[in-house]
Amino acid sequence: MGTIHLIDRYSRQVAVIGREGQERLSRAHVAVVGLGGLGTLVSMYLVGAGVGELTIIDYDTINITDLHRQLLYREEDIGKPKVEVAVKRLRDINSAVRVRPVNEALTSENAEEVIKDVDVVVDALDNWLGRQVLNEAIVRLRKPLVHGAVNGWYGQVSTIIPGKTPCLYELVQAKSLPQCVGYCPVVGPVVGVVASIEATEVIKLITGIGEPLINKLLIIDGKNWVIDEIKLSRVENCPVCSRYLKEK
Ligand SMILES: [Zn+2]
Repeated sequence: MGTIHLIDRYSRQVAVIGREGQERLSRAHVAVVGLGGLGTLVSMYLVGAGVGELTIIDYDTINITDLHRQLLYREEDIGKPKVEVAVKRLRDINSAVRVRPVNEALTSENAEEVIKDVDVVVDALDNWLGRQVLNEAIVRLRKPLVHGAVNGWYGQVSTIIPGKTPCLYELVQAKSLPQCVGYCPVVGPVVGVVASIEATEVIKLITGIGEPLINKLLIIDGKNWVIDEIKLSRVENCPVCSRYLKEK
């Protein structure tokens, strides 16, 4: 792709983040873990924005109950693997982005392989068990993680830098949305708000522009439109950080 074409395609964005910002995006590799409500929308924004490479990870198939919020999927996709459908649709949005599908659950066995080469990881999971695995991996590999979660009318976002901010384990102890039992009930557009904030955080981290949500937890109440910012501080004896950050 020639420079002129690139500038044309991203010109509205380059006007904000500059050519250097755009070039940084084009060299960046992002992993989106989970391709549900958050992951589909974050992926669409990142592919649209022109990241160089996107790894998408999910083991699930598309269910009819996903369609009210997972706008990358259609009725005809029901029953198909999420990554399989997503990789095609994301390439249709921007053929210049290398989209790498991983049709597996993130486990402690494959986590390192999946995220070792990425610049930023996006938490788009819907359960805290999976987040535990993800948290250990990003702390061990010292990868920045943009965390997002939704529940009902509520959502939360925070950016985790291992060694600098509380990890997900500490965040959950400090203050967090209640865990969902079985599945998370959610209002589609509230998921969209949280996904948009997560994608914005990724763009900020990669370009180095603006202030990411470092040591801050943003809590969004979509029912009353109240957005709170909670200051976070590290816990001295976090079992995850004290275990994995000492290893290096
Ligand atoms: Zn920790």
